[in-house]
Amino acid sequence: MQTPGHAVLNLALLGAGSHSALLLPILAGAVAPDVPIVVLYLREHYLRGLPDERIWSESYQQPFWLNLIHGVHSVPLTLLGVLVSLGAGSSALAAFFASALLHALEDLPVHAQDAHRHFLPLSQYRFISPLSYWDSRYHGRTVALVEAVLVLLAAVWLWPRFPLLGRAALVAVEGWYAFTYWKTFLR
Ligand SMILES: [Zn+2]
Repeated sequence: MQTPGHAVLNLALLGAGSHSALLLPILAGAVAPDVPIVVLYLREHYLRGLPDERIWSESYQQPFWLNLIHGVHSVPLTLLGVLVSLGAGSSALAAFFASALLHALEDLPVHAQDAHRHFLPLSQYRFISPLSYWDSRYHGRTVALVEAVLVLLAAVWLWPRFPLLGRAALVAVEGWYAFTYWKTFLR
């Protein structure tokens, strides 16, 4: 799934309106697993000037980045984070890890050739889904549309619970989805 979609979906699924003290941890946990990908992309794109194709086929495939990215998308590790946080009595940390766990579970069904090793460190297994949120060889066009609709529904649910700034962010996410769909499938 696309990173901004995780943020909107997780806030809705974990029930965080703007009044919730857990809004920030849920938001942080929703985007955290994709932070290494963003850092890698920005470094290779802006500092090294590599074209997107080489970033995904070469830089992204280096063991260091793959291990890091797959490690932060781990179901057992994020689940352990939830349990340890609950044991320590921190609802904020538990919300953070629960949101990161949800992120991993949201990615699991929509990654095909780029599947993460979601069960590290227990197993190296990669579930190669028949569906992809971007790859048209794996129904990407349809899956991306379904993802966009789900995120839109989550944004509609959040709308009355958010102040003006939050609503502006929701509009920005919807704009992002419209733009990337056009850029990927319609252009
Ligand atoms: Zn992800």
